[in-house]
Amino acid sequence: MSTDYPVYAHIDGPIVMIGFGSIGRGTLPLIERHFEYDAKKMVVIEPQHAAHNFLTQRGIRHLQVAITRDNYRDVLGGLFERGKGFCVNLSVDTSSLDLMKFCRELEVPYIDTVVEPWAGFYFETPDNADRTNYALRQKVRDEKAANPGGTTAVSCCGANPGMVSWFVKEALLTLAKDTGRDATPPREREGWARLMRSLGVKGVHIAERDTQARRQPKPRGVFVNTWSVEGFIAEGFQPAELGWGTHETWMPETSHSYDTGCQAGIWFERPGAITRVHTWCPTPGPQFGFLVTHNEAISISDYYTVGAGAKPEYRPTCHYAYHPSDDAVLSLHECFGAGKTQEKHHILDENEIVEGIDELGVLLYGHEKNALWYGSRLSMEETRDLAPFQNATGLQVSSAVLAGMVWALENPNAGIVETDEMDHARCLEVQRPYLGPVEAHYTDWTPLTDRWEQFPEDIDESDPWLFRNVLAS
Ligand code: NAD
Repeated sequence: MSTDYPVYAHIDGPIVMIGFGSIGRGTLPLIERHFEYDAKKMVVIEPQHAAHNFLTQRGIRHLQVAITRDNYRDVLGGLFERGKGFCVNLSVDTSSLDLMKFCRELEVPYIDTVVEPWAGFYFETPDNADRTNYALRQKVRDEKAANPGGTTAVSCCGANPGMVSWFVKEALLTLAKDTGRDATPPREREGWARLMRSLGVKGVHIAERDTQARRQPKPRGVFVNTWSVEGFIAEGFQPAELGWGTHETWMPETSHSYDTGCQAGIWFERPGAITRVHTWCPTPGPQFGFLVTHNEAISISDYYTVGAGAKPEYRPTCHYAYHPSDDAVLSLHECFGAGKTQEKHHILDENEIVEGIDELGVLLYGHEKNALWYGSRLSMEETRDLAPFQNATGLQVSSAVLAGMVWALENPNAGIVETDEMDHARCLEVQRPYLGPVEAHYTDWTPLTDRWEQFPEDIDESDPWLFRNVLAS
């Protein structure tokens, strides 16, 4: 990569970064490269650790305070001047909705990578229906509907949720071209939804295989992951959840749908981190993934709906199918087997990872070419050459944050937006230099290919792409 980095915008006033964990540390050098700003006005809010050298060297202020429901207006209100700066929220345990609303009140652009709730929500909310991403997302959508327009706040702009929504659009255009159809990008949401329907896409897996590994075997009693352990445990313990397509004919026994909101999703009474699905990625071919709930599972199903509500004309099924790093799989096994989380947490960093890639893409299935995987196959090795302080997973996320910030500055009054609603071509133009190989792969694999026949399985051979066949028994 050239070291002559494009500078996309000037940011007047303070950039406030909330959280300086694996993603914050990776995002800061990209902000430094691609924006003009006054480092002396920048503030990093990081409650858990003393100032990182990177901050001290640049004279960036470190505020060691936890943002809470009680102090966020005072802390942020004391840092921002109306209409100036940027709020980059990369923390856990802070309410995305409250922070976004307050930033919009101050006319300060805002971005986050997940609809995060205040501390305590994931484990202390008694009703499972209230702990879903559907519920969290719907509150942001309701706020958008109640207060349309105004200062831009980008919701859920990481790798997934985030970048994968831009990949869905690229994959649709690739499929249109490869099947001899018109591949002109539609201008409106309705056009994208009609395009997906006309291509015969039944659903989308966010299909990921992370093979990053270090030399040392996972020690017992430590949860090892390639990004936030806290974030992964929290989402893994939420109910399994997915966007529910119109081609489905069966639902898991303990499924629940919704009477309110967009009605694009269902959830069932089982933690996502122990719910396995059959899926496919280029490196392993067929594999198990975990059906961990994610915002994009609902947002993509919602965005590509033709019609509305509980009985639309068309809607794709969509869910995450995540094979995390092998150490993380072992960590989940240990955590759910013991019925409690490990006391020690560890995020694999760029200094210890000796091999592996994060292969993260979208698998569009059920169409005339069967299935198309489109995504980034970024290795740790390439990551080292591209940007400091992060592994491959981190760079897929931090470069999406960069792209989202650029888009927000170029579209300052777009209101609250999800990545499905942004200009995917512009965002990928900014992000792509950081993604390693971005590739399209067709496969003739289906969830019914090469199943073990020795034991009876609850499958329906009338359509291989039914969720009934995708869900592992
Ligand atoms: P991390 O666990 O490494 O770091 C979390 C950071 O939040 C730490 O700096 C911690 O001190 C800070 N924090 C905790 N409580 C806080 C509070 N009350 N106020 C302010 N800061 C607080 O996590 P990470 O890997 O950097 O991930 C950060 C966020 O990004 C998480 O919400 C995670 O779920 C999300 N994420 C999204 C994607 C995506 O693709 N969309 C991918 C990875 C991570």
